[in-house]
Amino acid sequence: MIELEGMTKSFRMAEGEMTILHGIDLTIQAGEMVAIMGPSGSGKSTLMNILGCLDAPSSGRYLLDGTDVTKLSKRQLAKTRGQRIGFVFQSFNLIPRTDAMRNVELPLIYNGVRSRRAKAKAALERVGLGTRLRHVPSELSGGQKQRVAIARALINDPSIILADEPTGALDTKSTVEIMELFTELNAAGCTIIVITHEDEVAEYCTRRVWLRDGCIQSDDKVHNRRTKLAAVSA
Ligand code: ADP
Ligand code: MG
Repeated sequence: MIELEGMTKSFRMAEGEMTILHGIDLTIQAGEMVAIMGPSGSGKSTLMNILGCLDAPSSGRYLLDGTDVTKLSKRQLAKTRGQRIGFVFQSFNLIPRTDAMRNVELPLIYNGVRSRRAKAKAALERVGLGTRLRHVPSELSGGQKQRVAIARALINDPSIILADEPTGALDTKSTVEIMELFTELNAAGCTIIVITHEDEVAEYCTRRVWLRDGCIQSDDKVHNRRTKLAAVSA
């Protein structure tokens, strides 16, 4: 599903060109749940932006479902992103003073989709927030806010979810809730890639990739993957 070959990323700076990713080879199959780990500044978010078609590699190949995305126009990239990829961020990125339904509907508004309410409601129910449809972000806990953001990421039925430190702002209990939700979505067929600093989070994944100084340092299967322990309610 995802194939990176010799992918590099450089940024032009006042001091000259800075190479952040040095020839990444990475293949991720549909249905995997992968943790990307590594110290701050190792290039995790840069890699995620490229995987998510938010930014283009400087060199190398990126095949997404067999399509060379480095050859797509900006418009085609945006379309691919909208149809295939859902994003989740540490800071939730919800619109304040706007209820959960409306926050989740937003990507549909951009895509000109009708019957948005039924879809938004179904997505919120899927993440266990069926009773919080009209709550605004300030009335929700951190874990609930992240679930709204996950519902928003799910709204176009993506095949891949990219999450950049999704539990970085959450307490332990909410972290467990969110990782159990990702585990469920993964079991339902969604490929999930999670950037994290936390071993506990990586333990929910099937595979752990370590980045260091813009290179893949290790890439291993997770043994004794954590599974859902108990049903979590909203
Ligand atoms: P991580 O997510 O692992 O902490 P990042 O991918 O955010 O790392 O950043 C890796 C390095 O790339 C950092 O040194 C950062 O300053 C640099 N960097 C990231 N984005 C840009 C950019 N748009 N322009 C210049 N440098 C960047
Ligand atoms: Mg980062």
